[in-house]
Amino acid sequence: MSVTNIVGVVVNRMVRNVDRVYHYTAPDELYQKMTVGSLVSVPFGKGDSEMEAYVVELPKSTEFSSLKEVRAVLSGEPLFDEEMLAVCRFMQERYFCTLAAAIKAITPPGSGVRRRQSSDKIITGSVLAIPGDEALLLLEKIRQKAPRQAKILELLLQNDFVANSDIRIITGAGQGAISALEKKGLIRPQQIEVYRNPVDFSKIQRTKALVPTPEQKAAIRQITHAAQKGEHQTFLLHGVTGSGKTEVFLQCIEAVIQNGRGAIVLVPEISLTPQMVERFAGRFGERIAVLHSRLSFGERYDEYKRIRAGEVRVVIGARSAIFAPLHNLGLIIMDEEHEASYQAENVPAYHAREIALLRAKQNHIPLILASATPSVESYWRAKKGEYALLTLSARANRMQMPDVEIVDMRKELAQGNRSVLSERLKEEIRRNLERGEQTILFLNRRGFSTFVSCRNCGYVVKCEQCNIAMTYHKARNYLTCHYCGYTVKNLTQCPACGSRYIRHFGTGTQRVEEEVHELFPEASVLRMDVDTTGGKSSHQQILDQFAKEKTDILIGTQMVAKGLDFPEVTLVGVLAADLSLNLDDFRAGERTFDLITQVCGRAGRGKRAGRAVVQTYMPENEVLLQAKEQDYEAFFENEIVLRKSLYYPPFCDILSLLLTGPNEAALSAFAAKTANHLRMECLKQKSIQAEVLGPGPATLSKINNKYRWRILIKCRADSAVREIVRRTLARHDKQKESKWINITAELNPNSMM
Ligand code: ADP
Ligand code: ZN
Ligand code: ZN
Repeated sequence: MSVTNIVGVVVNRMVRNVDRVYHYTAPDELYQKMTVGSLVSVPFGKGDSEMEAYVVELPKSTEFSSLKEVRAVLSGEPLFDEEMLAVCRFMQERYFCTLAAAIKAITPPGSGVRRRQSSDKIITGSVLAIPGDEALLLLEKIRQKAPRQAKILELLLQNDFVANSDIRIITGAGQGAISALEKKGLIRPQQIEVYRNPVDFSKIQRTKALVPTPEQKAAIRQITHAAQKGEHQTFLLHGVTGSGKTEVFLQCIEAVIQNGRGAIVLVPEISLTPQMVERFAGRFGERIAVLHSRLSFGERYDEYKRIRAGEVRVVIGARSAIFAPLHNLGLIIMDEEHEASYQAENVPAYHAREIALLRAKQNHIPLILASATPSVESYWRAKKGEYALLTLSARANRMQMPDVEIVDMRKELAQGNRSVLSERLKEEIRRNLERGEQTILFLNRRGFSTFVSCRNCGYVVKCEQCNIAMTYHKARNYLTCHYCGYTVKNLTQCPACGSRYIRHFGTGTQRVEEEVHELFPEASVLRMDVDTTGGKSSHQQILDQFAKEKTDILIGTQMVAKGLDFPEVTLVGVLAADLSLNLDDFRAGERTFDLITQVCGRAGRGKRAGRAVVQTYMPENEVLLQAKEQDYEAFFENEIVLRKSLYYPPFCDILSLLLTGPNEAALSAFAAKTANHLRMECLKQKSIQAEVLGPGPATLSKINNKYRWRILIKCRADSAVREIVRRTLARHDKQKESKWINITAELNPNSMM
C-alpha cells in the first residue's frame, strides 16, 4: 500500500501483549522533526487514548492499511541511536522483557528534569519493598485507579533509589501517593548521603602515569595493541587487590584518549567511593563523568548531556553506566567483574558483562574484565583461550596478606562455649583493645534462606541431586531444594551423628552486639546493617564515625566486607563462614572464596600486619582452606570439576520461570502443567539438551498474599530454547489462568527469591 511518512513505534507500556512495532503515519511537518529514537505521542487502543511511544524505525512500506496518525513529537532529539537500539533488541530477546522496558533502561531517568540546587548531604528517597516481578504485576492493576502511584512504581522498577523530590517532579504525585504506597508495603523510605557531584576538580591533585612493573607493562601493551588494531578482544586481568590493576586501566585509557576515543569504566556501586573517583579525576581531570544512583535525577541527566555532547572521554559508573551514550567508544573496563551486583534484579534483568561484551563487539574494541577472584565462568573462558588471560602476580605496594586462622565451632560447643564468639576470637579482640587497634566483626546475612545443620558434626541438609543446601520453611516446617523442588519434612535428629542439636542456622548482628557489650563493656561498638541504616544515620555516617572516632569494634553484614579502607583495622572476624558456604545457590563456593578474600583484605591495610579469624562448623571445607591460602587456581580447578559433573554454569545456563498467584493449590498444579509442557517442547527438538527442574516454592514462598513457585531449565539458553520460553509465555497470556496467575522468565538470576 502506498503510504508515505511511515513511522514504526513501540508504545511506552511494559506489558507483553503490546510488545511489538506499530505502524503510524505522520504529517510532513512532524515527520521532518523525528528520527529513530524520537519520543512521540500517538492515539492507541480503544478510544484512541493518548500514548507515549518511541520511534524505532522509519520504514519505506507497510503491510497494514489505514494507518493512524502520530499526534505530536514530544522530543525530536533522539533518546537513543541505532547502536543502542540494537542493544535494546538484544535485551528484549535475551532477557524476555518488552522492548519498551529495555528502552527505558538505557535512557536517562526523568529526562528534562530541572536540576535542583541542593545543599543537603542526606536526602530522603524511596526504594521498592517488593520484588520487581510483583511490582510489574501490580503496576497494571493500579494504573486505572491510581495512575500516579503506578508511575511511582514504574520509576522505582527502573531505578534502585529515587529521591522523593525527584518522584514528585517526574510523576506529578504528591507526598500522599508516596505515603499510600508505603502504607501498602510496596515501597519503603530510605535515606542516602549524596556525594559531592561530580568532583570538585579545582581541589584534585593531578597525577602522572607511574612507571609500570614488567607485568603491568605486558598487560598494557597487549590491550593497547588490540585497541589500535580496531579489533574486539576480551582480556581477563587477574590480580589481587593492590597488584596495580587500576594503574593498568589508567594507562590503557590514556592511550585510547590519545587516539581520540573514550572509555567506559564499570565498578560495583559499593566501591564507587570519592577516593576511587579522585584517582580518575587526578589523571583525566574534567574529561570524566560519574554515573551512580546517589545522584539526583537532575544531576544524572546533566552528566548524560555532557556525555552526549562529547565533552567527556571517560565515564565511570555502576551497572547501568554500560548504557552511556559515549561517542567513539574505544575501550570498556569492568572492575570486580565477578560481583553479583552486575546482574540487574529488576526488569530488564540484564547482566552488565553481557551488555559490555555486545557493545565491545559492535564497536570492535577491547573489553577488560578485572578481578582478584574472577567468576568461574570468566576464568574458564580465559583458560579455554576465548579471553586473553593477563596476570598481575605481585602486590605493587608490597603489602602483606593477613594471616588467616580457621576456628572449629564444633569444638567450642563441645567445650561448653555457646557464645557466637570463639575463645580464639575473644582473645584476639582483647589483644586489639589493649593495643588500641580496630576490629571488624562480620556476619554474612545475604538472602532470606536458612539452612539446617548439625552443630555437633557440621552436617548440612543438602539436595543430593543439586548439591544445594535445602531451605527451611518455618511456617510449614519443611525443607525444600530451590533448584529442583525436592521437599522433605524437617529433621529432628542428625542422620550423620545422631545428635539432636540439628536446627536452622541464624544469628542477627543485634545479638552479636549484645554479646560484645557484655564481654567487653569498656569497648566502643558500632553496628551497621539493614536495620540500622533505615534510621537516621546512613552507612557513610557510620563508616565516617568508625574512622574518625577510632571506634574499637564495627559489627556489620556484607556491607562492611567490600571496598572499605581503614588503615587502623588489624583484625577481622568472620563469625559464621557457614552462612556463605550454605547459600541456596550453586555459586556458594565462589561467593565464599570471594568473601574471605575481600574480608581479609580489610585487615592490615596500614603499616601493621593484619590477621583474620574465620569461624565455622565445617573447618575441613576445601573452599575455606583454599581461601585461607589465597590459592585461586586450586579453588578453580576443584570448582570447575564440580560444575561440570553437576551440570551448572559455565556448562549450562539457568533459565528461571517464576509463577505467582493467590491460591497455592491452583498455582502448584498449574506450575506442574507448565513444567510438563516445557519438557515436551524441549524433547521435540533434537538439538536441545535441557533439564526441566521443579516446580517448587521460591525462597520467598509468599509475598503480599501471593504464592511464588519456580521452574528451572538447565540448558544452553540458545535461540531455540528462548523461543520455547517466549512461546510458553505468549500462550499463557492468552489462557484464562493468566487472570490470576502471572509468569515471568529470567536468565541466570542471582537468587531464587
Ligand atoms: P589494584 O587496582 O589492583 O587494587 P592499584 O592500581 O590500586 O591496584 O595499585 C595499588 C597501589 O600500588 C596504589 O597505591 C598504586 O599507586 C600503587 N602502584 C600501582 N602500580 C604501581 C607502579 N607501577 N609503581 C609504583 N606504585 C604502583
Ligand atoms: Zn551431626
Ligand atoms: Zn535439588
